[in-house]
Amino acid sequence: MKELRDPFGRRIDYLRISITDRCNLRCAYCMPAAGVHWQPRPALLTADEIVRAARAAAGLGVNSIRLTGGEPLVRGDIVDIVRALAGIAGIRDISLSTNGMLLEKLAPALAAAGLRRVNVSLDTLNPHTFRRLTRFGDFERVRCGIAAAERAGLAPIKLNTVVIRGVNDFELIDLARLTLEHPWHIRFIELMPIGNTGDWGDGFADSADRYISVQEMRERLAPLGLQRTGAPAGNGPARTFRIPEAAGTVGFISPLGEHFCATCNRLRLTADGRLRPCLIQTGEVPVRDMLRAGHDIETLIETAVARKPAGHELWHNETSSTHNRLMCQIGG
Ligand code: SAM
Ligand code: SF4
Repeated sequence: MKELRDPFGRRIDYLRISITDRCNLRCAYCMPAAGVHWQPRPALLTADEIVRAARAAAGLGVNSIRLTGGEPLVRGDIVDIVRALAGIAGIRDISLSTNGMLLEKLAPALAAAGLRRVNVSLDTLNPHTFRRLTRFGDFERVRCGIAAAERAGLAPIKLNTVVIRGVNDFELIDLARLTLEHPWHIRFIELMPIGNTGDWGDGFADSADRYISVQEMRERLAPLGLQRTGAPAGNGPARTFRIPEAAGTVGFISPLGEHFCATCNRLRLTADGRLRPCLIQTGEVPVRDMLRAGHDIETLIETAVARKPAGHELWHNETSSTHNRLMCQIGG
């Protein structure tokens, strides 16, 4: 059985694939309200190219795949992609990150095709704040999407919440309390200086004032008496806690914190077919043309793994000087 190891001894067994840069929402922290330059369609990997890249990675020891974007559910061939990935020998786990807007309709077909789990982005429980932050989002549709995912057995449900001062920070306790009744795993994520780092318009605070550290989040959740617990399957970099007696867990993700890099097991494939060793650092290894020419890409995968940096040097008070793309293009 082959395995991929980077120069720092980390085993790379997890591939995150951005299958599109397009999205049906425009979350203020991720994209500007208008004027996003999408990649031309022919630049995006086809379903067949995605599957061939995943098969090559699986042959080298990758066993877990997450589909992301952009919004992966806006791709018309999403169910076919999941079904083909689920048929690859060695792939044990296929998950998907979504904004949930199309989940109610697609959850049963995705589960039948072999999807195991979903992470749904949910930053607020207030429908007005949800609309303001996502610009086109419909809170009720996402709520129904989460319920449909649960019914379809896409469990455990993970909720990703980016915490933003003045926008949803005062909802931390209510969001965490969702786990009392629901076996959901909510993960509070620090806002990263990636994507839409400038003025968000709509009366949102200045960029310097929006960031909240996981330390501050934990202090503000102290009244809930969170207790450290083991991480649920596939929880990646979250530090996980539980409200006593709760059905689900509360996690904290500090993407800019060092512990995230030390245990990094992932490689990314961008929607336009570039292997990206690190979310933050700019280096990429293009594979699309090789796939289109019918060549194997195993050597390129090994090259990308060999180029994984020990860590990155982006901290919350920096702007995005060290990277060159929107989150939706890289795959968050
Ligand atoms: N559209 C899907 C979604 O929203 O879940 C998948 C793609 S989205 C880029 C993946 C994750 O990245 C989401 O949970 C989103 O909240 C997060 N994200 C995007 N921009 C971010 C930023 N500047 N800081 C922290 N998280 C961010
Ligand atoms: Fe779209 Fe996800 Fe970015 Fe929001 S965070 S704009 S849903 S890609």
